[in-house]
Amino acid sequence: MIPLMNVKEQFASIQSEILKAMKEVTESGSYILGPKVDELEKNIAQKLGVSSAVAVGNGTDALILTLEAYGIGKGDEVITSPFTFFASGEAISRVGAIPVFADVNPDTYTLCPDKIKAKLTKRTKAIIPVHLFGQCADMLAINELANKHNLLVIEDACQAFGAKQGGKPAGSLGDAGCFSFFPTKNLGTLGDGGIITTSDPLLAEKLRSLRVHGSNKKYFHQEIGYNSRLDELHAAVLLICLKNIDNWNLKRTKIAEIYDLMLKTIPSIKAPHAAQNNHHVYHLYCIQSNKRDLIAKLLQQNAIQSGIYYPCCLHLQQAYTHLGHQKGDFPVAERLSETLLAIPLHPFMLKEDHLKIVNVFLNNKEVFSC
Ligand SMILES: *Cc1c(COP(=O)(O)O)cnc(C)c1O
Repeated sequence: MIPLMNVKEQFASIQSEILKAMKEVTESGSYILGPKVDELEKNIAQKLGVSSAVAVGNGTDALILTLEAYGIGKGDEVITSPFTFFASGEAISRVGAIPVFADVNPDTYTLCPDKIKAKLTKRTKAIIPVHLFGQCADMLAINELANKHNLLVIEDACQAFGAKQGGKPAGSLGDAGCFSFFPTKNLGTLGDGGIITTSDPLLAEKLRSLRVHGSNKKYFHQEIGYNSRLDELHAAVLLICLKNIDNWNLKRTKIAEIYDLMLKTIPSIKAPHAAQNNHHVYHLYCIQSNKRDLIAKLLQQNAIQSGIYYPCCLHLQQAYTHLGHQKGDFPVAERLSETLLAIPLHPFMLKEDHLKIVNVFLNNKEVFSC
């Protein structure tokens, strides 16, 4: 079976370095929020051109702690996309605020600025644009709207390490950027991890307190916090991955380019659309077709894995029944949940596997087009 993604190969390619780093950490006596985490935070902040990065336990916590640090909670509304991983909405609910969804752009699948306008109320405090599948949301328009209405912009950049807009990196485009180091993300570790990037020193300071039980002096607690920290072992692994991320992302874009060319010859299947000014890093390569299920079956028959991201929009999730949404509320997002299919793309994809997938598509054009 040709896998959709293959993190095993990725970590195998740097295994000797990882083992060396693990030995070093084992012998260091420092295991949580130590020198490796410091180094990772500095390197990421520098790479993204922001003043601070604060490492936490995972990407969901990155969102939760940022919302909490900005004092967003009960009675507040936060606008986000209904077409994303559940955590984007869950974080808003977790701090007691209300997730307000606005539909997405039918080409980029990211939060649509015009749809946000209709959702603004006196209680709106922030916008969480999601840089879905490795491409930035329309930050120019979203920031403009946020400035006009005095709102915070928190980027959910969990799928977009290395993505850029107008030459500026994801995570440096809003008030804060939240990343996940879940193993399958573009920049991932051998477990859970996350980081918040920001050029707001007060936010960074608050986050550093919140992640360790609301404390900035050991055993003295000025607020109720969380336990959400990054381990030295994960930071050590991530420092190695960080050296490779540009190359890995480049490999992703090269594979995507060939898929794009292939799909130009199959008009009934829509390729991912990278908006002008956007550098897409293809966390996932999702094709769009009315024959999604048929394509998945055909790929399966040819021992090619595919995946559905996401089969259920946030507003239709059981957990959000209380918000009172119904089918039809966000037609663009809903259609995407019925027509998108991710096909294999990862930096360690074999040339022969890539070629096989391309040929399965090219040899079955008539199946897709009726
Ligand atoms: C993965 C992901 C998250 C959550 O990250 P975790 O590290 O799994 O908590 C949040 N938002 C998006 C868009 C994601 O893809």
